[in-house]
Amino acid sequence: MREFIDSLKQIRLAIFDLDGVVYRGNKLIQNVDKIINELKNLSIKVVYNSNNSTISRQAYVERLKSFKISSERTDFYTSASIASAEITKLKKNANIYVIGENGLREELELAGHRVQTNPSIEDIDFVIVGLDRDFTYEKLSIAQKCILEGRAQFYATNADSTLPVARGFKPGAGSMVNALITCTGQNPIRVFGKPEPFGIELILQDTQIPPEQACIFGDRLNTDILAGNRVGIMSIAVLTGVVTREMIEEVKNKESKFDNNLIPDLVLENLGEIYKSN
Ligand SMILES: [Mg+2]
Repeated sequence: MREFIDSLKQIRLAIFDLDGVVYRGNKLIQNVDKIINELKNLSIKVVYNSNNSTISRQAYVERLKSFKISSERTDFYTSASIASAEITKLKKNANIYVIGENGLREELELAGHRVQTNPSIEDIDFVIVGLDRDFTYEKLSIAQKCILEGRAQFYATNADSTLPVARGFKPGAGSMVNALITCTGQNPIRVFGKPEPFGIELILQDTQIPPEQACIFGDRLNTDILAGNRVGIMSIAVLTGVVTREMIEEVKNKESKFDNNLIPDLVLENLGEIYKSN
């Protein structure tokens, strides 16, 4: 068995971002399948934390299976499943209006909530907004009514401004969230995805592993690394996705105006660097 670099010796929980860390688009990043299996063999708990609310956890199990990585639904914490878990703490069997896709609807229904597509406005307890690639003016005006004329509370899965695709970027969930902010004059009560701490806090609570023994591997400073640092787990930037060494140098620059929580504790060219080279 290969030996870990010293800074990782205490780790018992590894939280992986998915896109840019495990795979890029529909391609597995080289050797990640083997590394994840080795971590599991070392009794390190492996879970996945993604801001993507459009696919359900079950669909993620299938996706990783296609990369020869075995997992269970409960290994995934998506902004949709985190939203569902947190909303359930507020109210069971709630009536919810969703701007979002199947992943979000499925997670809410799985927890016993009723997702209404054509609601009577007064019935709606929560409006939850995530990425919706069939976003319409009609959906926006129903959500606006539920909040302003009804008694619905406004929540969001995540606020990512952009969505990385094979070539460049498309609008992210934040574009829909901001549309609703504009027409209601209200901000979401909570945004569940990274860089907010709720997902990682839920993972630590579910696994009962203390923050000093946990780490997050991510490829974005303003979501993965910021969330990890806010909760006080080890934050590890992997250069297989969005973030580059130049971007990290920029946030480290003492003269820069960036939040110190954007600075990762550790930077790896690729996941293979978790091992000592000899
Ligand atoms: Mg990523």
